[in-house]
Amino acid sequence: MNPLFRDIPTSVFERMSLAARELGAVNLGQGFPDFGWPEDVVAKAAELLTGAASQYPPMRGLPELRAAVADHYSQHQGIAYAPDEITVTSGATEALASALLALIEPGDEVLLFQPLYDAYVPMVRRGGGVPRYVALRPPEWRITREAIEAALTPRTRLVVFNNPHNPTGRAFSQDELTALAEVCVARDLIVLSDEVWEHVMPGGAAHLPLASLPGMSDRTVKVGSAGKIFSLTGWKVGWIAAPAALGDPITKAHQFVTFTTPPNLQAAVAYGLGKDEAYYRDMRAAFAVARDRLADGLADAGYVVLPGEGSYFLCVDLTASGIAADDLTFCERAVREAGIAAIPLTAFFEETPVTNVIRLCFAKKQETIDEGLKRLAAAR
Ligand code: PMP
Ligand code: GLN
Repeated sequence: MNPLFRDIPTSVFERMSLAARELGAVNLGQGFPDFGWPEDVVAKAAELLTGAASQYPPMRGLPELRAAVADHYSQHQGIAYAPDEITVTSGATEALASALLALIEPGDEVLLFQPLYDAYVPMVRRGGGVPRYVALRPPEWRITREAIEAALTPRTRLVVFNNPHNPTGRAFSQDELTALAEVCVARDLIVLSDEVWEHVMPGGAAHLPLASLPGMSDRTVKVGSAGKIFSLTGWKVGWIAAPAALGDPITKAHQFVTFTTPPNLQAAVAYGLGKDEAYYRDMRAAFAVARDRLADGLADAGYVVLPGEGSYFLCVDLTASGIAADDLTFCERAVREAGIAAIPLTAFFEETPVTNVIRLCFAKKQETIDEGLKRLAAAR
């Protein structure tokens, strides 16, 4: 048995959601919305489940979805992909796994920014890569050229980048992206750019796709997820967008990881991507209302919220909030004693964790947020 997976704990998201279900806690831990998905997209999937083919679709994805994703990026982000440069995967998670299997040669060093999404490092290691970390630090979690350069060696081949960023909610600035892009061009690095939160920008700023920076389109593999775009996290329809030199090997890996993704859900996502700008505007506005409600309530309860522009997460600084417990202790106690599930930031680190910050998901109905706030007030 591979010790890598034998020795890894069950993901913090699963553990916290399980605890929340067992204990009847309000779950602001694992990131999933309890409102706001487009009912017409769900109805479309239901109609297609009975009315259309349920056999294997083409391995690279339904042509209509590949075309819809390419159109979507051209329309919303001004970046040009041909449908042939899109491969549909079973969620962004499979996109990341297939990409890391295909792009890494054993012994390659892979640069990652901490805190990081928990799926990255096990897959980097399984692909034979050696992770190297750039530490982002609160309250700003800023990326600097110096920190990137300090982590590079002649063996560095790949960067795993996430923007907007889970768990901090940062949407990195043009300057930060430029620093990263210039280093990648100078050192001939490939970037696996996890942009699943690209439309979840409650702060209202426009998403800056890494591939749009000078010199980046040929070296960027962009990862997207319909689970985030349509608030349907369980559907697990994702994709990669990349030039053929990078996308084709990833697609070869994809054919032995999942091969395909349910055709009915793919067709419903293709239909959904036909929505106009109003859909995205309304989604941003609804998440902004939810974020403000949670952030204001937290401030009233004496919690200090860190700044963030993207994703549906916000982070709370326990120390600044006058709480002495570390994040793991606080979250454990909060779910058991106060009935509120949150995620300790330690879970997003492989080394030198930030241990005084917790992450809360605000993609919830008013009632959920209000009940969560009551319990958070009691958890102090
Ligand atoms: N990357 C990041 C940064 C995420 O936050 C998530 C889900 N929360 C994923 C990937 C996985 O996306 P999917 O559910 O489409 O597999
Ligand atoms: N991406 C979601 C989060 O960060 C959940 C992912 C998962 O449960 N694996 O909470």
